[in-house]
Amino acid sequence: MRPEASGVGIENEKSSPIDVSRAGEALLADLLANTTELLSLYDRDFRLTHYAARLKGLYGGAVVPGAAIWEIYPSFLDTRCRDEFLRVFQGGSAASIELPRSSGEAPRSVFVFGTADGVGVIESQGRGGRSTAEEQEHVILLHQATHDVLTGLQNRRRFGERLQEALAAIGGPKPKAALLQIDLDDFKSVNDTLGHGAGDTLLQLAAGRIRDALQDGESAYRYAGDEFAVIQLGKEQPMEAERLAGSLVNAFKDPFVINGIPVFVGSSIGIAFGPEHGTDGEQLMKAADIALYAAKTDGRGCARTFNRAMLLLLEQRENLRRSLRTALERGELYIEYQPLIRPPSSVIGFEALLRWRHPEIGIIPPGVFIPIAEADGLMDEIGRWVLEQACRQALTWPSSLTVAVNLSPAQFLSGSLTDTVAQIIDAVGIRAERLELEITETVLLEKTIDNIDTLNTLNVLGIRISLDDFGTYYSSLSYLKNFPFDTLKIDQYFITDLETDLKSQTIVQSIINLAHGLGISVTAEGVETSAQARWLVEENCDCLQGNFLGRPLGADATGDFIRRSPSKEGRAMEESNRVL
Ligand code: C2E
Ligand code: MG
Ligand code: MG
Repeated sequence: MRPEASGVGIENEKSSPIDVSRAGEALLADLLANTTELLSLYDRDFRLTHYAARLKGLYGGAVVPGAAIWEIYPSFLDTRCRDEFLRVFQGGSAASIELPRSSGEAPRSVFVFGTADGVGVIESQGRGGRSTAEEQEHVILLHQATHDVLTGLQNRRRFGERLQEALAAIGGPKPKAALLQIDLDDFKSVNDTLGHGAGDTLLQLAAGRIRDALQDGESAYRYAGDEFAVIQLGKEQPMEAERLAGSLVNAFKDPFVINGIPVFVGSSIGIAFGPEHGTDGEQLMKAADIALYAAKTDGRGCARTFNRAMLLLLEQRENLRRSLRTALERGELYIEYQPLIRPPSSVIGFEALLRWRHPEIGIIPPGVFIPIAEADGLMDEIGRWVLEQACRQALTWPSSLTVAVNLSPAQFLSGSLTDTVAQIIDAVGIRAERLELEITETVLLEKTIDNIDTLNTLNVLGIRISLDDFGTYYSSLSYLKNFPFDTLKIDQYFITDLETDLKSQTIVQSIINLAHGLGISVTAEGVETSAQARWLVEENCDCLQGNFLGRPLGADATGDFIRRSPSKEGRAMEESNRVL
């Protein structure tokens, strides 16, 4: 899209020429139209984005949005000029650069300064009228007021203005405006593990990918932290918003390489349309936010368009949140215990699995309410309760049996986990060796060093530590090197199709060999058939867990299960005995 020949040459990213009626743009537009300065602004690819009308008068056809800086100033290809220019571009202070000239030509110099998303140039010809520092400052400030310093995208303030305008312009030829809220998945982990510098680089690279996915009539903003937004105008909807969302999700499929490390960070997107889902900015943002939340809960790395049913789900979640606060004191939480079996058939312990019996809804699985408890800061207290209950329950079993308790990453945050665990085993009077704590890799991802310290202290106390759901997250082998896990639990994902999938078989075999090589015991989770059990036993898997060997049981039923266990006898195990 080209600016009018006589008008102000302002174009922003891949959006249409900007309507210069807005506050920040208006000032910039006014300045560019009327200034006697030969001002031009360039993006990080050295492409022209904004320019003073007078510049076009002087250089004519070379001055078009998107033109490379050296098409307007060939002198920048000269080594000395280029070096000086690159110094400013890479964050150096503003500088005045003398341009090379042929004999008889008047001296020419340019003032080059960094902007939020590239570089600005003010040319002062041998015409006496040098740009005043004040004017230069004015231009820089205007740009900064509307752009995000880190990524160079338009900022939150501009986003608010543009959204309001987009909604006001709806009707007639522009029936709909689409708002896409984009949130990076796992950004926090990158910040926590690789540091804030890497986090900043990631945001810059992410902004670049978003910018590259845009077409005419689409403009991108950095809204907050790792939240971005795109406003789409004058398009066929919902097709065009869905197409763009698809390209944005795909744009995040390849890893970002940060300091030589490939980092996978997906994007989740919520889409809402004005006026359908909101006639003012706030309403529309809320709708897009709810859709974004749905995208996150639907597995992330995907896009969802707002619909009313999402509101209902959100209300339900709000209700759950409220009632979860009192669930513990009302005695609605309880624990089931799933047997852990050493082949051929000995019960060696149980894993404690938390449940919530909601008075109206019924039984709610932990996958639903634990994330809410974590987000609401309730998991520390709930986790402590589970630990104590499970240890007390274990005292009712023969003293050779262990109890495994899952720990949530949130329990590591308080910093007092080791004290809590030590106090509980002391108060309950259970031997530390009988307790096994299960963690997932997310615990190791967050605040890695502190958490490894915590695990080491727990280990020193004699408590066993297992790595749960192995194979589903990063499965980084460095964890196995840096921490002496007692047990590695292979996720059900690889067990489910063991009978038919050669790849799963190879993966499971390799995990077993790897763990054994490191002196770590292996448990297979989610064993549902006799064939799976037999295969695992043949491959020397140390322990099996799953509905085929024993479903999670109420506390009272565990005693019966142990009594019926074959080594100390049991009918439930007879079938597995036969097949194993
Ligand atoms: P997990 O620790 O991997 O627990 C195993 C899950 O697999 C349990 O789901 C169990 O019921 C299920 N399972 C066991 N055998 C089979 C099988 O043969 N087939 C199938 N389809 N599923 C099987 P559950 O109880 O829904 O727990 C889900 C997750 O919630 C647990 O995964 C654990 O990460 C978490 N969780 C449970 N209780 C607690 C708790 O007290 N604290 C924390 N922080 N997390 C907990
Ligand atoms: Mg577990
Ligand atoms: Mg598991």
